Amino acid sequence: MGEPTKILLDESEQPRRWYNLVADLPTPPPPVLHPATGQPVGPDDLAPLFPMALIEQEVTTERYVDIPDEVLDVYRLWRPSPLFRAHRLEKALGTPAKIFYKYEGVSPAGSHKPNTAVPQAYYNAAAGIRRLTTETGAGQWGTALSFASAQFGLDCEVWQVRSSYDQKPYRKIMIETFGGVIHPSPSPLTAAGRAILAEHPDSPGSLGIAISEAVEVAAQHADTNYALGSVLNHVLLHQTVIGEEALLQFAKVGLTPDVIVGCTGGGSNFGGLAFPFLREKLAGAMNPVIRAVEPTSCPSLTKGVYAYDFGDTAGMTPLMKMHTLGHDFVPDPIHAGGLRYHGMSPLISHVYELGLIEAVAKSQKDCFDAGIRFARTEGIVPAPEPTHALAACIDEALACKESGEPKVILTALCGHGHLDLAAYGAFLAGEMVDHELSEEEVAAAVASLPRLS
Ligand SMILES: *Cc1c(COP(=O)(O)O)cnc(C)c1O
Repeated sequence: MGEPTKILLDESEQPRRWYNLVADLPTPPPPVLHPATGQPVGPDDLAPLFPMALIEQEVTTERYVDIPDEVLDVYRLWRPSPLFRAHRLEKALGTPAKIFYKYEGVSPAGSHKPNTAVPQAYYNAAAGIRRLTTETGAGQWGTALSFASAQFGLDCEVWQVRSSYDQKPYRKIMIETFGGVIHPSPSPLTAAGRAILAEHPDSPGSLGIAISEAVEVAAQHADTNYALGSVLNHVLLHQTVIGEEALLQFAKVGLTPDVIVGCTGGGSNFGGLAFPFLREKLAGAMNPVIRAVEPTSCPSLTKGVYAYDFGDTAGMTPLMKMHTLGHDFVPDPIHAGGLRYHGMSPLISHVYELGLIEAVAKSQKDCFDAGIRFARTEGIVPAPEPTHALAACIDEALACKESGEPKVILTALCGHGHLDLAAYGAFLAGEMVDHELSEEEVAAAVASLPRLS
């Protein structure tokens, strides 16, 4: 027997609390502001959209938050998730590096999204809410929230970005199978959607537009709340189960990672994996390089500005200080729909400003190339989003081949691509194109940033 391929935890070893990085940062992230007053938002400002338990988690400075038993019960359907050693990919690359991937594709939605969908549905149901509205890009979040809503007896209504709705018809069926209702966005059902359609009848949509639609409906109905699948502090908090499990799994093989890479759309799978390791790094227990990977067509960290901006296109959300391309930026309809968001989580943006993490951008063809190498060696077809992280992993592993360093590399394989096969089809047929955002496009995109007096 050589070194193990799968490192597993028993149910009894399942982490029972989420980790809040804010407690350990040298400076707290800048406050979220009310767009009308420019003052920090209070709980009452957020109460039309979120239950109080989640608002408290959004602003808490406690280091740990206990996971409710009802949530742990649902988590046990797929958690603890496996940590794999990529022996076959390493061999194909001829690298002395050890590559590990934490596989979140074993969840009901096929991605990391249920890690936060389940607690969000739980806290909303406990607060007496009857319906949740949300946006979805590739469809992962809509699937996760409709599954989680079914667990706690809630209705779920999803606005899916038009380009993904057309590219990925099976996501719609999966959302409906779990009991959700789905609309393409922009839709004629909301004022925000109608305004976009009047100007651009063929709009491919964007996460920012879909958020505006879902927020509008939630704000208008007392029994309806809104749920966001990324970006916010409470979402990243819930995702830390990924990193907490991975820490325990690394302890079992007696290793610590030298490099951690993850793909970033709004930053939740990356933060979820990296933050527990960052805690250990800040405490001096290990010293991994932590690197976010984003698409060249939507490079909020590497090319965006760090400024207060809206989370949605219509400008209905509070203002968050984040790396952003501007709230009305509509990225190219690339296949990694989950990475097409104009902004980056304020917490990830803050940690980036503090110099605690790095960022790189990758083109979609390089990413699919990495996805195919991974599929042919490891036997899992990755979702288009984590192919960005895999491309960066492969770069790192090939650099190790040059230098002879046997680095330990960790990534989150945050979802499988079984419902993204049309994208693989386009790549294999040679029909995929790359798009890199030019300086002029960036300047035009950020011109709409709100001015704070
Ligand atoms: C939603 C999604 C992403 C992007 O969201 P993050 O919050 O950045 O994690 C990435 N990968 C998959 C598989 C997704 O479903």
